Amino acid sequence: MSLFNLENQNANLDNKIVAGLERLSQVFRILLWNKAKEHSLSPIQIQLLIFIQHHSADKTTISYLAQEFNFTKPTISDAIKVLEQKKLIKKFTDSNDTRSYTIQLTASGKKIVTETENFANPLTIIIAKTSEADKMVLWQNISNLIIQLNKLEVISVQRTCFNCKHYTTKNKTHFCNLLNQKLETQDIRIDCGEFENA
Ligand code: SF4
Repeated sequence: MSLFNLENQNANLDNKIVAGLERLSQVFRILLWNKAKEHSLSPIQIQLLIFIQHHSADKTTISYLAQEFNFTKPTISDAIKVLEQKKLIKKFTDSNDTRSYTIQLTASGKKIVTETENFANPLTIIIAKTSEADKMVLWQNISNLIIQLNKLEVISVQRTCFNCKHYTTKNKTHFCNLLNQKLETQDIRIDCGEFENA
């Protein structure tokens, strides 16, 4: 029975939680659309600019971006073509494979990122006002949900501690061998620059 059937939804906490998450997913879409409209770009174009700004060059190929955002390569290629026409990105061809390239932002691209990357601020402000104990519970649940959805292959690329070759457990606690430190709940990362696939 559908969780969107209100009788089912309101009689069952599991259904209400999932319906609530669906409502939250709309928040990001709405906030991103508002920013995209201001700059005459599409939401995915804004997301690509923000991602490219904050990730290493090896993560800016068409293949990687397609996997990251769960789009086909032609869709990402088209979005990149528009960003290039608008002079917001530059392509750097791989000398070993001229069909492949990485992408960097131009000064104008970086300016757009500065003006748009705060699109989630309304949520950040609410979270900042939440108690530390509630934040911890929230984070533990969110990171667990992400890893389980990744295992089910609902979400693809996950540079999280739980998928990383440097992650281990010591005395039943999370541990990063690269940083050589215990990872408390708040230290678990879902997008780590040092991540390496296990
Ligand atoms: S390298 Fe990063 S992702 Fe990997 S275990 Fe350490 S903190 Fe986590």
